[in-house]
Amino acid sequence: MCYSKKVLLERDNYTCQYCGNKVNWYKLLPNQTQPLNSATLDHIIPKSKGGQANEINLITCCLECNWILKNKGYNKRNNNNMLNLYKCKKKIIKQHKGYIMTETPKHLLEYHQQYKSTLQLAF
Ligand SMILES: [Zn+2]
Repeated sequence: MCYSKKVLLERDNYTCQYCGNKVNWYKLLPNQTQPLNSATLDHIIPKSKGGQANEINLITCCLECNWILKNKGYNKRNNNNMLNLYKCKKKIIKQHKGYIMTETPKHLLEYHQQYKSTLQLAF
């Protein structure tokens, strides 16, 4: 596991930031299937939309939620508002899993506050 991934998993307390399930880092053997609670990182703004691989845009996500997002898609419009995208993804996961046990990550709320004040300054 690379260092920065470990830092992000620790920040998120090894908890999927979408559904709230605990995640684990597995060292897989060849031909072993990856458990649903495997730790992955999700780009809130997808890479294809210019989302950065930084500590704000990456959050801990269990493999199951990652699959749901990959297969079910979400708001396809260009949207650079991370908080809205996060909530949108959470809604989709709730529809498929039936539950959500997470609060909005603190770093994302703080980022959104800054983002909002930047927008206000611009007008
Ligand atoms: Zn999850």
